[in-house]
Amino acid sequence: MSLETSQLNELHWLMEMLHNIDVGLVVLDRDYNIQIWNGFMENHSGLLPREVKDKNLFGLFDEIPETWFKRKAESVFLLKNKAFTIWEQRPYLFKFQNYRPITGTADFMYQNTTFIPLLAATGEVSHLCLIIYDVTDNATHKKDLQNANEELALLSQTDGLTKLFNRTHWETCLQSEYKRWKRSQNPSCLVMLDIDHFKNVNDNYGHMVGDEVIRHISGLIREHVRETDTSGRYGGEEFAILLADTPLDNANVFAERLRKTVEEATVKYNDIELKYTISVGIAEVSPAIQTYEAWIECADAALYQSKEGGRNKVTLYPKQ
Ligand code: GH3
Ligand code: MG
Ligand code: MG
Repeated sequence: MSLETSQLNELHWLMEMLHNIDVGLVVLDRDYNIQIWNGFMENHSGLLPREVKDKNLFGLFDEIPETWFKRKAESVFLLKNKAFTIWEQRPYLFKFQNYRPITGTADFMYQNTTFIPLLAATGEVSHLCLIIYDVTDNATHKKDLQNANEELALLSQTDGLTKLFNRTHWETCLQSEYKRWKRSQNPSCLVMLDIDHFKNVNDNYGHMVGDEVIRHISGLIREHVRETDTSGRYGGEEFAILLADTPLDNANVFAERLRKTVEEATVKYNDIELKYTISVGIAEVSPAIQTYEAWIECADAALYQSKEGGRNKVTLYPKQ
């Protein structure tokens, strides 16, 4: 075989490989008209090389933001440097469908793109090559991991039985509310409540029914609070609710409404029906309360007063 034939063969093979390689290859001229369009681009766009040849990129693909793309490409033409876009910045350049079976959850193909300057014999950059990588697997795995981490973070803050905040997380919230109050001095109230004679519920009906009562009060708390309030399960059958930007009188109205709703409600579990009550203590934060722990103690003292006073009551910690 002559040298010429062998070189021709190599060139032919190279062309064949570029056509079949599993990345997108596009060559654009100075006016953004398409010159080369490999098999990957053909397969995913459904457009043949002859159908796109000499056609303007932006005319064919609406999804490519022209100003953004040109700003990037012009610097490649001018500076003769490569440029990149990654899926985290822009999920795709060409909106292609995602066909991969494992990552069928993504609606489209996530892409990273490299812009490469192509030098003419004159040394000028006359053309631009785009290399498009399908990174859907990477992107979906990373997104799945992010979602799982977010769920895990939420789980670690949540009480399993009631889905309210657990004590640790709720105390963290109280701490930041206390700090916020120190700056803003907006009134803020802490409500502590405890189910009355809950031991009797467990003793008379069993723990499953006890759990149902705990779920019941949690549901009522969730229904009564505003989005800006923070509710947590403080102990077994003790709950804490932080009412941000709420003065003592309003907190009292909230607590009385909740207490009455509980008093009037009936918990049903299979063929068992039972009623229960709660005792409540409320403390408004004030300069005399010097730590968030002291704030809890004040609300707890008021709760104790409600128990002492005969239960099914709301007591306000005296305003200092
Ligand atoms: P008081 O009116 O003074 O609050 O009386 P009480 O019976 O509610 O008193 P106490 O706080 O001493 O009793 C709480 C009981 O709650 C004891 C414990 O067995 C029960 N308990 C704590 N956590 C759970 C739980 O998750 N499920 C159930 N079923 N019971 C719980
Ligand atoms: Mg109790
Ligand atoms: Mg208790």
